[in-house]
Amino acid sequence: MSELSLNGRCLCGGVTFQATLEKREMGVCHCSMCRRWSGGAFMVAECAGDALKIADESQLGVYKSSEWGERCFCKSCGSTLFWRMQDHSMAAISIQAFDDPSQFDFVQEIFVDEQPANYTFANKTKRMTSQEFLEAFASGQGT
Ligand SMILES: [Zn+2]
Ligand SMILES: [Zn+2]
Repeated sequence: MSELSLNGRCLCGGVTFQATLEKREMGVCHCSMCRRWSGGAFMVAECAGDALKIADESQLGVYKSSEWGERCFCKSCGSTLFWRMQDHSMAAISIQAFDDPSQFDFVQEIFVDEQPANYTFANKTKRMTSQEFLEAFASGQGT
């Protein structure tokens, strides 16, 4: 397995981090919470929780958005940075926080049943409804 170590940051640079990714792949979440929070379809690269190293947590805002998830952002500039499990077992990092978002293969879209009808990505991806995704996630084979 070839690991990929990337540096990311928020808009103002108050939060910087290093993420070691197992795959150079990107997924998109169309759920209403991700869209409202990120201001778009949320494009992420997946990272094991212990493979995400944040340089200075004092500038990191954390909002618990569900019983198990939390959303992390910069307290100064408001940049959307990552969603992660509250137990820090995994994180979904905004690919926009990296210098070159084009390096990721766009492979998956989730919560497609919550996708607004006025846009569609042209990429051929694996598209999963919220139910399909949550079932896969619960059985440990999801993203
Ligand atoms: Zn910032
Ligand atoms: Zn979502």
